[in-house]
Amino acid sequence: MSNQKTKQTLRDRRLGDPYLKKLLDELAAARAERDEVQSRTAAMLNSLGEGLIATDDQGKITMVNDYALEALGYTYESLLGTWFPKTVIATDQYSRPLPTLVRPIIKALTTGQTISEYAYYLKRDGTLMPVLITVSPVLAKGVPSGAIEVFRDLTKERQLDVAKDEFVSLASHQLRTPATGVKSILSMLGAGDFGPLSEMQKKFVDKAIHTNGRQLQLIEDLLNVALVDSGKLELDLDYADLAGVVREITSDHGDAISKREQELTVSSPDTALLLVDLAKMTMVLDNLISNASKYTPTGGKIDVTLKKYKDLITIAVKDQGVGIPAEDIPRIFTKFTRLPNELSTAVGGTGLGLFLAKNIVELHGGSIAVTSKPGQGSTFTIKLPTKWGGKV
Ligand code: ADP
Repeated sequence: MSNQKTKQTLRDRRLGDPYLKKLLDELAAARAERDEVQSRTAAMLNSLGEGLIATDDQGKITMVNDYALEALGYTYESLLGTWFPKTVIATDQYSRPLPTLVRPIIKALTTGQTISEYAYYLKRDGTLMPVLITVSPVLAKGVPSGAIEVFRDLTKERQLDVAKDEFVSLASHQLRTPATGVKSILSMLGAGDFGPLSEMQKKFVDKAIHTNGRQLQLIEDLLNVALVDSGKLELDLDYADLAGVVREITSDHGDAISKREQELTVSSPDTALLLVDLAKMTMVLDNLISNASKYTPTGGKIDVTLKKYKDLITIAVKDQGVGIPAEDIPRIFTKFTRLPNELSTAVGGTGLGLFLAKNIVELHGGSIAVTSKPGQGSTFTIKLPTKWGGKV
């Protein structure tokens, strides 16, 4: 028998062995099941509405889903096995590439922590795509053995944001003109330019003037919010005496404060000269003092303290009001946040004041912070650098 034939006969005999046949069948079934699981997993990852890129422990790409390929404009072959930070370029909003060490993927691999950050990806066609990136390390016995990045294309959301900002800005501009018209007519009416008013008429005209003032303030706040959101809020700087400004604002609040039977003290040096946008800083201080009074029960005390240090002016507004729970403090500086408390329904408000205050103070290179104890009161402190270009 030829050698070839002998081998063939042995193979046939082995295949005839029932035990071996069972093993081979089981192996084939296991392979089919593995292929099935793999293709189901791939189908699942591919139908994910977010980009997914998996890497090994050094950041080499081991898997990319269809969404990521389409969003970035790459082919699977051109990404697989390449070093992620080098192949897919991430930038800031000005197209400046992010240094490798600050890339979320590298941070996740080196720290073993989940990293979530906003950035821009440079697409194959050269355009930038705003993304929210979340990278989770894959830990094997506590050591990163790779990472999985999920990113979301924010292009549509950003376009919607721009459209929303434009709408708010346009609507507020359109609303301002008629509201200003009403203001001038009401003030002529109140001043008796159209004839003397009875007690009752005067009372209602004053109410209308007050309500129109609130409406104009809201429109102004919305316009400023739209400017902040589009990065167009600019300062109109000039030297001004902040101590004088503080005295003026506190006296403007005199009526509201005495109506609530509150006491207000001001402690300040005679002058505190600063390069400042007077109208905007007045708005900030006005908001802090108004809040201190609004959120303090009848009979409480409010202290406004201005201090000058070497390169710094600090203004603290301290109240004995309802206070703010520690976990809510970061929220109060964001848009439209109003915390429910025993006074919030009675006093009204828009939740825009502190958002604008923070942005305005930061544009001046300063900072705003609050310390508070629920039920005992709050102290809002603004720090402003007196040397222009300085930061605190
Ligand atoms: P508004 O006062 O118009 O609601 P703000 O942005 O000025 O908006 O304030 C946001 C929220 O922060 C307020 O609704 C209130 O819940 C809380 N807050 C602000 N100042 C104080 C304060 N001095 N004491 C207690 N809570 C305050």
